[in-house]
Amino acid sequence: MTDLFTLPPTPSVPVTGSDARYPVRRIFCVGRNYAAHALELGNAVDREAPIWFTKAPAALCLSDGTIPYPPGTADCHYEMELVIAIGAPGFRVEPDDAQRLIFGYACGLDMTRRDLQNAAKAKGYPWDTGKDFENGAVIGAITPAAHFAAAGQRIALDQNGARRQDGVLSDMIWSIPEQIADLSRLYHLAPGDLIYTGTPAGVGPIAPGDVLEGTVEGLEPVRLTIGAAQ
Ligand code: MN
Repeated sequence: MTDLFTLPPTPSVPVTGSDARYPVRRIFCVGRNYAAHALELGNAVDREAPIWFTKAPAALCLSDGTIPYPPGTADCHYEMELVIAIGAPGFRVEPDDAQRLIFGYACGLDMTRRDLQNAAKAKGYPWDTGKDFENGAVIGAITPAAHFAAAGQRIALDQNGARRQDGVLSDMIWSIPEQIADLSRLYHLAPGDLIYTGTPAGVGPIAPGDVLEGTVEGLEPVRLTIGAAQ
């Protein structure tokens, strides 16, 4: 038996200090995980459970590239986020036991077609076309967990050299262990699973020609250049 056609190889992410790369299996994202960001979009803070959505691995975009301005939108936004890279399997783990699942951390951009997301929200429809699109999950190199401990580090985004987002990781509503524990009640987490952990306040629109640089103290930055629309 042979396949009818060949699919692209599994996307993978560079790892600092290693020639080996991290292959990506699934991409999970948390919504409204910083109170100031929830409020800037007019949303209430929900403390009952994290809000999950997903992006396909085909949406992955490595740092330092240039992407066309995304199609189907006139209001595409950056959202700077810390990304967790899962490196061990886990199902129904407790927060106290979640750290052992973490392979490493990276800077990421949860690109968002805000106009499509807002239209879907208004009608109670899924967010998929607003969130899951080509080049919509941007990621920098992964730093192994032994070399980074998430605490009160600054998370920031510069657009053309001007600071737009400036928060601290400790302002997350759902902590990293709480996110992993909650997600592991819904899915069998496994190596290759990425978690985008939400964005601080200051999200805003991009335009062709923009250069974005997102940073978390202690990690490799994520950079993205926006080209003309196709
Ligand atoms: Mn986000």
